[in-house]
Amino acid sequence: MISRVRSAAQTTHCSAELIEREDISANLAIFRFRVSEQLSFIAGQFATIGIVVDGEPLERPYSIVSSPHEPVLEFFIELVPEGSFTPKLWELKPGSAILVRRRIVGQLVLDTAVTRHLMLATVTGVAPFVSILRTQKIERDRGVLSNHQFVVIHGASQSADFASYRSELEALSRAGWLTYIPTVSRPWAEPHWKGETGRIDDIVRKYADRLGFDQSNSIAYACGHPQMVANVKAILERDRFSRNQIKEEKYF
Ligand SMILES: Cc1cc2nc3c(=O)[nH]c(=O)nc-3n(C[C@H](O)[C@H](O)[C@H](O)COP(=O)(O)OP(=O)(O)OC[C@H]3O[C@@H](n4cnc5c(N)ncnc54)[C@H](O)[C@@H]3O)c2cc1C
Repeated sequence: MISRVRSAAQTTHCSAELIEREDISANLAIFRFRVSEQLSFIAGQFATIGIVVDGEPLERPYSIVSSPHEPVLEFFIELVPEGSFTPKLWELKPGSAILVRRRIVGQLVLDTAVTRHLMLATVTGVAPFVSILRTQKIERDRGVLSNHQFVVIHGASQSADFASYRSELEALSRAGWLTYIPTVSRPWAEPHWKGETGRIDDIVRKYADRLGFDQSNSIAYACGHPQMVANVKAILERDRFSRNQIKEEKYF
């Protein structure tokens, strides 16, 4: 049975080996895979990955964190303890293999019709934005001219959940083309937290207005928790963003 699944999957899937796993907390981890072949994708898209369970492939989509210019495929994933897939993923150790669909898709890619990009993410929803921003950095370093400006508002209940992406995006923001705003929704649990507090919904208008990202010059991208996506869409629509100026990816 497993060999039948494997041979059927050979035309549509390739294999990938887990080379590194970074546990951020009991329920959050970064997974880095070496894929058996070079996959073609656009920064911001998602891959469908699979694990063979009882002879059948079980699959879920995950936004790719890495840039298409990087040799590894990186994901930032939340464990859903009662879920079907993520508890199996959590059993993987370096050297374990998974399936990856060769066809990588997704619409949450950079819209180059404008130069201002307002990116809103809950926890793991930062993944496609990191891919886009790493790609910007790599291409700028190679001398590609870019006049794109980015704001990332990254929400989590506690600052540890920003993982290493917080320091990575803070470092990128020093170059002047990115403003990174991490915000925690349970500041009472972290008396030393000096950054922004509240949910993304609470602060999106403040930063969009302050930084001059409005419906005349910007595209907004919302990714992660479905309620955050619904809330910010309503807020931005009241701020005269049209529906096609708001791109979204809901993680459920
Ligand atoms: C385009 C796309 C990209 C995605 N990218 C990512 C990503 O980069 N990182 C990531 O962690 N997830 C991502 N997801 C979510 C992911 O595909 C799975 O839905 C998630 O990992 C749960 O899988 P599961 O099989 O363990 O749970 P399931 O068995 O599918 O779900 C079990 C129950 O948990 C609920 N549930 C599902 N996800 C969550 C959640 N996050 N929190 C609480 N309850 C949940 C379901 O509604 C269901 O009731 C993405 C989803 C989509 C559609």
